[in-house]
Amino acid sequence: MSDTAALIRHDWTLPEVQALFELPFNELLFQAQSVHRRFFDPNQVQVSTLLSIKTGACPEDCKYCPQSNRYDTGLEQEKLMAVDKVLAEAKAAKATGATRFCMGAAWRSPKKKDMPYVTAMVKGVKELGLESCMTLGMLSAEQATELSEAGLDYYNHNLDTSPEYYGEIITTRSYADRIDTLSRVRDAGIKVCSGGIVGMGETVKDRAGLLIQLANLAVHPESVPINMLVRVEGTPLAEEAELDSFDFIRTIAVAKILMPQSHIRLSAGREEMNDEMHALAYFAGANSIFYGEKLLTTANPEANEDLQLFTRLGITPEARDVDRCDDEEEGRLLEQVQQQQNDKFFYDAAQGS
Ligand code: SF4
Repeated sequence: MSDTAALIRHDWTLPEVQALFELPFNELLFQAQSVHRRFFDPNQVQVSTLLSIKTGACPEDCKYCPQSNRYDTGLEQEKLMAVDKVLAEAKAAKATGATRFCMGAAWRSPKKKDMPYVTAMVKGVKELGLESCMTLGMLSAEQATELSEAGLDYYNHNLDTSPEYYGEIITTRSYADRIDTLSRVRDAGIKVCSGGIVGMGETVKDRAGLLIQLANLAVHPESVPINMLVRVEGTPLAEEAELDSFDFIRTIAVAKILMPQSHIRLSAGREEMNDEMHALAYFAGANSIFYGEKLLTTANPEANEDLQLFTRLGITPEARDVDRCDDEEEGRLLEQVQQQQNDKFFYDAAQGS
């Protein structure tokens, strides 16, 4: 077995993963960065845009989520968006440089009547030359096949936390339900996006347990979103203690070591992360972000802040091989990064005069 192949494992044990979490911070980051650069360009980050296509009124009881109809968070509910509106948003996302367009609906699972609309959205997004991703809740095997036939590239379904802590966070669907949906998605030939949330009062053992569940799947998820809890007023986790930033970075680093070929994605909670924390996360192996102003229903750093930071760190957006438009797409994003740089120089020159 080659050295590289030996890094892709599906038999991680709890003591091994807990030992990674216990490493001195610098040692852990060095290991994660070393593994990361075996598989990826360390100076590239993939960018996706996320749109909520159906907001709020979800019957599930996920304690972190402002979209659950059990909590009063003042969230404005919206029915399933019209297909042409979704495609107009996708077009705008493409114009600002996103290479993947993710669509999220607050459902327990999609109903039969919803499927023609969501499949039309997938087809339309693909026609624009973007990768498509959806998160619609639990899927039956038939629904996964329908989405696959429409051309869906990725399906997001998070495990959220460890099996042991899961019952503290959600009671309306089981851990096994989630694993089943992930298998149906994989069996239908759709790429898997699955991760979890850090900062919900879980222990380090739970963080290790979550990452082991993901890493010990037969195939690692292609994308692993690591979210930092957004403590939304009105949700049961609103008063949760603030997460130590270094514990968040440690989780990214361990995720990278366990799943070296996966894109580790910074998702919810980025609004509360400063530039230095973003930079540390990229060093620890995070190489994908949601880009744009809104992440479902919580604020997300504005796109140009991300581009400014990319410029300062010498990061370029990762090109995707969706279709012939990619070069054009990458060119556009690089142009924007360049423009940010020019603006900065102009600003510096003005300061100096
Ligand atoms: S996380 Fe998803 S399933 Fe859970 S309440 Fe929110 S929208 Fe519903």
